Amino acid sequence: MYKIMTAGPTQVRENVRMARSQECTNPDLDQEFFDFYRETCGLLSKALHTENEALILGGEGILGLEAACASLTEPGDRVLVIDNGIFGKGFSDFVRIYGGEPVLFTTDYHRPVEVEALSTYLEKDHDFKYATVVHCDTPSGVLNDVETISKILDTYGIMTVADSVAGMFGEPLNLSDSKIDILCGGSQKALSAPPGLTMLWVSDRAFRAMEARKTPIAGFYANILLFKDYYEQKAFPYTMPISDIKGLRTALDNFFEDQEVYQRHARIADAARKALTAGGIKLYLESGWSNTVTVLEVPEGITDQQLLYGMEKDYNIMISGCFDVLAGKVVRIGHMGENADPQKVSETLAALQGTLEKLGAQVSCDMADVFQQAI
Ligand SMILES: *Cc1c(COP(=O)(O)O)cnc(C)c1O
Repeated sequence: MYKIMTAGPTQVRENVRMARSQECTNPDLDQEFFDFYRETCGLLSKALHTENEALILGGEGILGLEAACASLTEPGDRVLVIDNGIFGKGFSDFVRIYGGEPVLFTTDYHRPVEVEALSTYLEKDHDFKYATVVHCDTPSGVLNDVETISKILDTYGIMTVADSVAGMFGEPLNLSDSKIDILCGGSQKALSAPPGLTMLWVSDRAFRAMEARKTPIAGFYANILLFKDYYEQKAFPYTMPISDIKGLRTALDNFFEDQEVYQRHARIADAARKALTAGGIKLYLESGWSNTVTVLEVPEGITDQQLLYGMEKDYNIMISGCFDVLAGKVVRIGHMGENADPQKVSETLAALQGTLEKLGAQVSCDMADVFQQAI
């Protein structure tokens, strides 16, 4: 098995794996499971500092993005798609599938969305039902200030759907200090449970907008409204994946036990950037680096495939390449959740250096050493 230092999924701790092997009750019928599910959702709300209802849906992170768009979009709705990254732009597909009209606000992929530029744009055009924005857009690693962005959108009555699949639990996020109406998360990134679950935090305003629709939600699995009042009615829309949720709960307990999660992510990410820069490796971003992932340009004369393959073969370490407009241009080191670990990141930098040098690229310092000094 490779050590996975990818931009997600992340490594899963033993106690999470063990929690998934517990005996199962019938999650459709057993009150004990309804209580367990609700309590776990309560902890999710607490982790994000909100009273907004949290929900866990059976399906990988993409389900949450689609469910948010499916549940809010009615045919003809104009939706502002804030696009400074590949996931950001990707929301336009979901909007279109459900009959909405995506309007792109596209900015430079090398930087976070500039709040002033967005404000200026909105002064001229603000006829949108909701907007979509990504917290950490993982292909470039850019971190957007989704809290501030949501507050600006709210001044025009525009709701916010925010994707923090690769941000939350590694980057602090305070929902009560935001106007985010639907926040989307996934189990397999910084929370370090296996892939398979979506988490959603839904505001009352978003529930009201779903209830006020003139047309029915064009989906069943992606219909958030079907989860409303599940506890009172003792009914989920479909059978909940109980073992996955047991694992998620233990991962969440691990998160709450860790007193310095965010500081550690910040220290490691900062030291990794210093080491790479000192080694003469170019970071993709000019500013706005997320503390969950570091994205570096593939040096001239070698390919991403050579680099990834060399690290796997010689060091047994797997990092991520990229896709879409960044395919072949960058590779990505994930250091989120269980992988926000100085030892693991140091080994990864040493392996990267060894592989680069074997492929004939120059590295101008001992990057693992610089990392250790900086941390
Ligand atoms: C991982 C991720 C998702 C979920 O998508 P998959 O690539 O299918 O895991 C959604 N949004 C962002 C920003 C992600 O990093």
